[in-house]
Amino acid sequence: MKNCIACNQPIAAEVKFCPHCGAKQPSQTANIPNTAEQEAQAKPPTIIIILAVLTICGSLFGIGRALLYDLFGSATNDDSIRIRAIIYVVTSVGTILGAVFMLLKQRKGLYIYTVFQVIYIATVIYAASAHSHKDENLSSAMLVFFVVPAILFLILYWLKDIRKHLK
Ligand SMILES: [Zn+2]
Repeated sequence: MKNCIACNQPIAAEVKFCPHCGAKQPSQTANIPNTAEQEAQAKPPTIIIILAVLTICGSLFGIGRALLYDLFGSATNDDSIRIRAIIYVVTSVGTILGAVFMLLKQRKGLYIYTVFQVIYIATVIYAASAHSHKDENLSSAMLVFFVVPAILFLILYWLKDIRKHLK
């Protein structure tokens, strides 16, 4: 529904002439894509919602895993493991923050996300190389399960088609 431009009576949105006073109504065809566009601009595209939700879930899992590492680290009094666990928690929290900003369609979310993910990926690679002396399977598993998806997500977020939705 809209109102007639002449007599202000409520009339159907698609009518060309007002049924009350006969005044010609402005064309709606130009306005319809505008409203659709505005709606599209108001909420983030599905791809960003999917990526951000997966990112937040993965990061929450990362925090849980790091806390377990931390407990393990406390038990063994291994400072390097404890420091790594703190890095995982901090980078996971930063990653979630970045994902939330991206859900709000803010480009700074992508930058925050990228900084924390680069630190996270570097830490996992460093940890995997430290493990590789003792356990080659564990270090390759770390690379496959944590580094590969992280790099894949970074690439996806930086794709022009996805990045263009962030301001
Ligand atoms: Zn009218």
